[in-house]
Amino acid sequence: MRTFTKLILVGVGVAFLAVKWTAPSFDPESLKGARVLVTGASTGIGEQIAYHYARFGAQIVITARRENVLQQVAEKCLSLGAQKALYISADMASESDPDRVVSFALDQLGGLDYLLLNHIGPSPFSMWGGDVDHTRWLMKVNFFSYIQMAWKALPSLEQSKGSLVVVSSLLGKIPSPFVAPYTSTKFALNGFFGSLQHELAMKKSNVSISICTLGLIDTESAMEKIKGITDVPAYPATDAALNIIATGATRQQELFYPWFTCIVSLVKDWFPSVTNHIIRNTYRYHP
Ligand code: NDP
Repeated sequence: MRTFTKLILVGVGVAFLAVKWTAPSFDPESLKGARVLVTGASTGIGEQIAYHYARFGAQIVITARRENVLQQVAEKCLSLGAQKALYISADMASESDPDRVVSFALDQLGGLDYLLLNHIGPSPFSMWGGDVDHTRWLMKVNFFSYIQMAWKALPSLEQSKGSLVVVSSLLGKIPSPFVAPYTSTKFALNGFFGSLQHELAMKKSNVSISICTLGLIDTESAMEKIKGITDVPAYPATDAALNIIATGATRQQELFYPWFTCIVSLVKDWFPSVTNHIIRNTYRYHP
């Protein structure tokens, strides 16, 4: 049995390396002048995505709710080398703001090469307490606004042979305690955009869709939530951001960051009772 398990692990490792080595290589030069819209860019991973695009000389539109913070991020983008850095404040819970933001980017940049959907609304890290209204609101912010913006941007992305990048989570593949509303929105994203990937491929569309599965990343909001509750290691937001950009630029269907999230996603259903035991023991909880 031990030899069998080792063989499986080696096999998975070899398969993973083979996929990595045969993946197309990322050329940052290809992003010079690229027209990019990044959501949730006032802080965290979105902010780091904006700075990387800026260093590569892209034309960027960033959005989030806080206008004063967006202004500072846009100024830094210009100082880092962005050809353009514009911002528009918007609330993704609103019915009209997702369309308004895409229209703004299309008008200002004359089209789009990349749409990076990354924003999330704040959600408590706690046991589900029956707040259906919050879950409904979070679905609007984390899911419905994504599909609305994607639909609005698709004709332009089709023309430019562009890419749509969706930032998701390992929690969109494996449910975990304390995040029921959040994990639901990420499962919804994976389902919707996974389906759309098939449909665009069947229609021979020019648009690529990349779904990014992230593990724990060291953003302020994430670190604040898990403080004292778990010792799971967090990975750097700036590196996560660069991997997200490279995945979109090379038109890959999926990103797993850090790398082992791929293995976790793969083996989670092999021994469900073991997986569930590990997940529950990852957190400190004393009822
Ligand atoms: P942050 O909480 O740091 O940033 C969220 C962004 O969304 C901010 O720019 C915020 O700006 C914006 N935002 C919040 N509410 C709204 C709203 N109603 N309308 C418009 N914008 C809004 O998130 P992270 O950087 O940590 O996460 C980024 C992405 O990465 C998310 O999709 C997340 O699910 C994913 N991810 C993150 C992980 C992590 O450990 N950090 C792990 C796995 C996935 P403002 O307040 O100004 O509106």
